[in-house]
Amino acid sequence: MSEISVRQEIMALKAYVPGLSIAEIQDKYNLPQVIKMASNENPLGMPPLAREAVVRHAAGAFRYPQGGNPRLAKALARRHGVDERRVVIGNGSDEIIDLLIRILAVPGTHNIVCFNPCFSIYPIQGRICGIEIRRQPLEKDFSFDFAALLDLVDANTRIVFVTTPDNPSGYCPPRKAVEDLARDLAQKAPDCLLVVDEAYVDFADDEKAASMMADGIMPHNTAFMRTFSKSLGLAGMRVGYGILPDHLADYLWRARLPFSVNILAEEAALAALEDQTFYDATLQAVRTGRKELSDGLTALGCKVWPSQANFLMFGMPEGAPTAAECFENLLARGIIIRPLKSYSLPDLLRVSIGNEQENRAFLAAMAEVLGAKPAKGGAKA
Ligand SMILES: *Cc1c(COP(=O)(O)O)cnc(C)c1O
Repeated sequence: MSEISVRQEIMALKAYVPGLSIAEIQDKYNLPQVIKMASNENPLGMPPLAREAVVRHAAGAFRYPQGGNPRLAKALARRHGVDERRVVIGNGSDEIIDLLIRILAVPGTHNIVCFNPCFSIYPIQGRICGIEIRRQPLEKDFSFDFAALLDLVDANTRIVFVTTPDNPSGYCPPRKAVEDLARDLAQKAPDCLLVVDEAYVDFADDEKAASMMADGIMPHNTAFMRTFSKSLGLAGMRVGYGILPDHLADYLWRARLPFSVNILAEEAALAALEDQTFYDATLQAVRTGRKELSDGLTALGCKVWPSQANFLMFGMPEGAPTAAECFENLLARGIIIRPLKSYSLPDLLRVSIGNEQENRAFLAAMAEVLGAKPAKGGAKA
């Protein structure tokens, strides 16, 4: 019997290998509690107003959502001071990224350009679509060489992806440099879209200084990606959005599956936008925790990269356990962080900023892994 054949691009895909679930880790190491600092989720949980909204609207979930999510699009347009027709909402910003590639790039003809390493969705979705991916290595300090990135662009380049602040390093390029890139790209390749992925930009010390969009600078060739998964506390609800150049949003809406944002996710997102108390507390917790973790890891001898996001990338001191050993060691202590092997950075680790208690537990566990005493006041996990 012959097997049904699939497209070549699909056969070449590696299966996603998920980490152990919280329950599996609890079981394996016999732990009463597990702390997850691996996926850059909100350290304060779900916005209380969004929780209430989900409960309040649960009984309405037998209905289809309203096509085009017009209430949410209106609220987001208001939030960012843009025309409602430029807003596209998706099942996570992952969906918007996927749609942009499918709408703009023709397989076998066009290419997309991004850094290496970068957020894995850009090259993976590109590959699935059969699009050539061109990648510019990051600088040694994980900063961006925009001139070299631009060198990869030709007449067949349809999208250039830039993540700011970057994942997994936390590096945030100067806003002026991104503005210059948009201008130079428009000159060199007028038909190419610049996608600025701002999933983490509101965690920056100064959002306006970090984000063109926050400061109202929106070149005609530039799309901005934002998400409810991080600062707005709804990763599991799957809501993200893009603010796109004028005519593009309409095509994305036409191509999007009609009901990809479900009715409870939409209500939760609307309520999250209203929960200013939660949002302010989140930014405060992340900025404080980022400093605390960065100082704590540095005091333990780790190399910590500067970050404007809700996570830190770090390397182990010389002579210490390897990054892989550290990851396993922390797991046995009930703390999950992110090894960066899949980003081709096997010597580095990424930890999401947690709440106060999680940050303290993480630093105490790191001190144990490194065989050091916690600096001071470090509570035992
Ligand atoms: C988390 C993240 C997103 C958001 O993804 P969602 O699909 O909205 O959950 C987008 N871009 C980057 C770089 C991210 O790290």
